[in-house]
Parts: sequence; C-alpha cells; structure tokens
Amino acid sequence: METKFTRRERDCLEQIRDEGSVKLVRLSKYLNVKPPTAYSIVQRLIGKGAVSRDKNNTIMLTALGEKNAESIIFRHRVLETLLTKNGVSVSDACTECKKLDFLISDRVAKELFIRLKEPKLCPHGRPIRVLQNSANMV
Ligand SMILES: [Zn+2]
Repeated sequence: METKFTRRERDCLEQIRDEGSVKLVRLSKYLNVKPPTAYSIVQRLIGKGAVSRDKNNTIMLTALGEKNAESIIFRHRVLETLLTKNGVSVSDACTECKKLDFLISDRVAKELFIRLKEPKLCPHGRPIRVLQNSANMV
C-alpha cells in the first residue's frame, strides 16, 4: 500500500506529528498559507485517511498518517545523512531533503541506510528509527 503526498501535505503531516494535535489556524501559520488553503490541505489528508478532525476542530494523525509520517521522517534522516557525509551543510541538507523525502521509496531509503552502515542518528542528532512494515514499499 502506498499513499502519495504533495509537499504541503508532507509538511502538514510533519507538523501534526511534532505537535501531537493542532488547530487549523496554527497549521496555516506553520505552512505559511491562509486558513482556507490549510483547510483544503487538511480535507485532502482526511480523504487519504492520514488525518482526522474532532468536534473541537483539533486535527490529529490517524494510524495510517502516523505510519506515513514515520516513513517520511526515516527517508528524510537517511537522505540528510547521505548529503552531510558528502560535504553538504546540515541546514542545506535539511532544506533540500524536504523536497525529496516524501517522493523516494522506502525501499531505496532502506538500501541507502544499509550502505551508510545503519547510522543511529541524523545530522541533527535525532534517532533514525528503522521502519518495521513500510507505508510505501514499492
Ligand atoms: Zn532535517
């Protein structure tokens, strides 16, 4: 099973995961878009089964969203490690990897992870957790 996301949806998943749950206004500020735009991104994520919204309009990840967010973070940290090992600065690596991490497959990310000798931490010092059952094995 594979769920495709856009860049904005990816950023949205990352932010909701970081915060646990979030209100629309806060999300729109984070994404730097107007609330109606944030609303339509959230609606799309609800349609993909990645996000849910309760009676108080609090937005949370579903189990599927959690799995996809974990997978994107894994891909992000592996790619970041690859770039920084090749001389790219941590901040450039982080910025560039956000353009790629949601597009590459878990399979390739896992291959890179093994080639990189299974690093425990990303260049920011955050743990790289190996995916158990991938959200998007191709
Ligand atoms: Zn990063």
